Amino acid sequence: MATELTTELIWKAFCGHRCAVCGGLKEEYTAFCPPCYSRLPRPLKNSLWKRMGEGFEESYRVCMAWFPAKSARSEERKRA
Ligand SMILES: [Zn+2]
Repeated sequence: MATELTTELIWKAFCGHRCAVCGGLKEEYTAFCPPCYSRLPRPLKNSLWKRMGEGFEESYRVCMAWFPAKSARSEERKRA
């Protein structure tokens, strides 16, 4: 069962430096790190340009669900 992504969690991830998909570093105020972002299909990338409270949270959840479960969190951490 997937962890519930509350708006608060999404906001924290968005403002922080940790990519919720791979655990790697990312810029503040971006959804994912560049490698993860680049893997997303174009429609999903575009959907992340929405603002918080105007659909971003839902887009973020869709993107998180899109990434294969195996790449989530600790199991397959990127070697930096
Ligand atoms: Zn990442």
